[in-house]
Amino acid sequence: MKYDVAVLGSINVDIKAQISQYPEYGATATAKSVVTLPGGKGANQAIGVARLGGKLAFMGSVGQDASGQQMLQNLTNFRIDTKYIKQSPDAGTGSFIVWLDDDGENTMVGTLGANASLTAADIDRAMQEIEAPVLLLQMETSRESIMAALKQAQQKGMFVILDPAPADNYFEEALQYADCVTPNAQETQKISGVQVTDQQSALQAAKVIAAKGVPNVIVKMGSQGNLVYQNGKVDYVAAHKVQAVDTLGAGDTFAAGMAVSYAKNQDLLAAVEYGNKAAAIKVSRTGGQKSMPTAAEMQ
Ligand code: ADP
Repeated sequence: MKYDVAVLGSINVDIKAQISQYPEYGATATAKSVVTLPGGKGANQAIGVARLGGKLAFMGSVGQDASGQQMLQNLTNFRIDTKYIKQSPDAGTGSFIVWLDDDGENTMVGTLGANASLTAADIDRAMQEIEAPVLLLQMETSRESIMAALKQAQQKGMFVILDPAPADNYFEEALQYADCVTPNAQETQKISGVQVTDQQSALQAAKVIAAKGVPNVIVKMGSQGNLVYQNGKVDYVAAHKVQAVDTLGAGDTFAAGMAVSYAKNQDLLAAVEYGNKAAAIKVSRTGGQKSMPTAAEMQ
């Protein structure tokens, strides 16, 4: 089957508790609200691609539990085909418990669950059927699944966009197979050791990351925009000036925009501009996955 974008990534249920104060160790506290929301960077990015009109194949995994059924239904509601989503018999749906305080600081504890149960064979089977110019992935599924997808993508000549979040474990190994990596400021520092404060430090960090074995590095700097390093060529894409009300999911919307645009034009700078615009729309409004822009809104 022909697609615009193949996405491999996590599907999670997020349980968010809004609290005024962190409870003391061992105490029982009442939250102002508790909500259950569909999440996971993979699902967010897949939904971002679908909303922007990209034809997509989404590879992921949920558990055989009620949360898994809800997450599959949620994807279906966004018109995403769930045929490449495994329903793992061995693990529950990935889930994170998030505490958000009044200062906007968040603390999370959770488990990858079924996301970590994807095998190389699961991915090989799916990738054999998928024809797409772009593979978009993050690092929240099993190492085997990520490496299998990267190797298949290389064989098929796909352009690989690696969102390195959470940038630990097997990142350096994965990087060797990526065409483009898109760390945010925190991830950039983690990977390169360079603290990103401006364009100059972002360029310095991009060079360090490129030297690890990837030709194209996009450093995302929130409201400061993006540094685009392409095989030594440097461009800067300024963020749009918007009133930011909710920056959660900016990076996922950016990734989705980049992937959809790159699949169409094979122009990395244009792809960053499109992702930058999509993310600006996202941050200017509240609401989770539904607040990611549609292709019509991008016009
Ligand atoms: P992440 O969400 O992964 O932490 P960033 O915060 O760097 O990543 O945001 C990703 C991209 O979203 C930025 O590079 C930029 O293009 C856009 N963006 C983020 N915050 C803003 C903002 N306040 N105003 C406009 N654009 C933004």
